[in-house]
Amino acid sequence: MKYCKICVYPENAKPTILFDNEGICSGCKNFFRQKKFDWNKRYKNLEELIEKYKFISKKNKQDYDCIIPVSGGKDSHYQAHIAIKKFKLKPLFVTYNHCFNTQLGLRNLNNLVKVFDADLIRFTSSIQKVRKISKFMLKKTGDLTWHYHTGIFSYPFQVAKEKKIPLMIWGEPGYAINTGVYTLDDYPEYTKWVRDEYQMRGFKLSDLINNKKSLIKDHDLHPFKFPRTEDLEKIGVRGIYLGSYLEWDHLKIVKQMVSEYNFKLFEGIRERTFSSFHKIDDHANDIHDYLKYLKFGYGRGTDHASAEVRYGRMTRNEAVKIVNKYDNVKPKSLSFYLKFLRITEKEFYKYVESMRDKKIWKKIGDNKYVKKFNVKKNNYQSNIKLDKKNYTFSKKNRRFFNLNKKQKFKYDDNLINDIKGQFRIL
Ligand SMILES: [Zn+2]
Repeated sequence: MKYCKICVYPENAKPTILFDNEGICSGCKNFFRQKKFDWNKRYKNLEELIEKYKFISKKNKQDYDCIIPVSGGKDSHYQAHIAIKKFKLKPLFVTYNHCFNTQLGLRNLNNLVKVFDADLIRFTSSIQKVRKISKFMLKKTGDLTWHYHTGIFSYPFQVAKEKKIPLMIWGEPGYAINTGVYTLDDYPEYTKWVRDEYQMRGFKLSDLINNKKSLIKDHDLHPFKFPRTEDLEKIGVRGIYLGSYLEWDHLKIVKQMVSEYNFKLFEGIRERTFSSFHKIDDHANDIHDYLKYLKFGYGRGTDHASAEVRYGRMTRNEAVKIVNKYDNVKPKSLSFYLKFLRITEKEFYKYVESMRDKKIWKKIGDNKYVKKFNVKKNNYQSNIKLDKKNYTFSKKNRRFFNLNKKQKFKYDDNLINDIKGQFRIL
């Protein structure tokens, strides 16, 4: 197993990562190439595009200029900031409620609607449906939040069709950035193909209902149905990524959203990452990430540390320590989800067994596995200069990246670890 010499991604990272002859991953190569982009020109392209859609919206006397799919996270706040404050658009927020909300996530979603004074449509799946789909997809593909990403990335298109709104503004093409499966050169856009390939994990909706054991009915799948291509083409629906036009540094963005729009961070110690702002709105995230570790041998420690290394805010050797500290942690919320799904821990591990990547896992006994490889320090000299001023673990960044320092928090940990039977509909 190769590990990138600059960041800490392994060669089996998903989506497909590629290594060059020097042992540098495609995610790093794209990152450094994008640094050299003419971002001013890209911003001008965005301006032109937005003007065009403002004109269309005015001509058609539409109530809304665009749709912004939101979760309530820092990226949602930033999308709203760009659309409303920078470009004076009148967006309609659309969200798919997966029912796995933390109190902090609901608070931030509420904040988004309040501070930007924009309207929101929220589709909520019933908890029984969520349970059925979650359990079935855990068995099939080792993913208990399949409904979550499929809903978020499908339902806004139903609204676009119904309300005849052609422009949809997404944030960063997240699935593509970390491992560099895509480049931003050609301004990628969000399409049905992207949804099928990355959000649905290659599954078709018919795979869920043509299965006697799933108990899932066609109408359970309503929010995941993508409108017909010809219907979307008639309206001219397209989903652009702001990340193709604006340089997307998560730390810069979250700092701005906290100071200007009262976005709230998680202010406590997390089990599977040191980041206080990534994925803080759903409490299934730790399990989702733990499943990634069980399948491929890495988790969010790798994702978040790799990003910091690329920005020069952390050394690779520090990132190696982060990976070893977080990636293998079994989250406390596991027992809670097992109860919710009505399965035993043994069954949980059994489901995942066939999905474990044999390149990284070695079976040593009944349901016991050890990793054959671990990320290690190396002596590779990269061109990244350490940005000491913005060092990840500096005092000024401590609210955003919290390893284990005891701090006085204004908000208690329950805001994110709130899993006492809470599958919130509202
Ligand atoms: Zn790399």
